Amino acid sequence: MHEFSLATSMVDLVKANCPEGEELESITIEAGPMRGIEPQAMQWAWEAATQHTPIAGCKLQLIQQPWKLHCPDCQTSFEADDMFTDCECGCDKTSPVDCDNLRLVRLTLKDKVGVSDS
Ligand SMILES: [Zn+2]
Repeated sequence: MHEFSLATSMVDLVKANCPEGEELESITIEAGPMRGIEPQAMQWAWEAATQHTPIAGCKLQLIQQPWKLHCPDCQTSFEADDMFTDCECGCDKTSPVDCDNLRLVRLTLKDKVGVSDS
């Protein structure tokens, strides 16, 4: 289950990015379709990976990006539901671009009483 190794590396990433002394409410991750992440498996992996760590209980929001394909004929890029979509011009030699992203988009910190979020 590759979701677990992803989750473990995300935990390290989150720990490195979390301001000291802050508690995390949730994190948002953006993943390209080439990553082949199964959302449910990802949630389980995340819970398992964060257990007994300082960020236990932090929620994971996963944003799956659509396929982005590039057409070599007319040099356009477009979004598609799968990687075998032909270009509008009829070209079937489209190739995926930026589809293996894995990005930490946002860290949401727990609200503290008396501190306003500005
Ligand atoms: Zn084209």
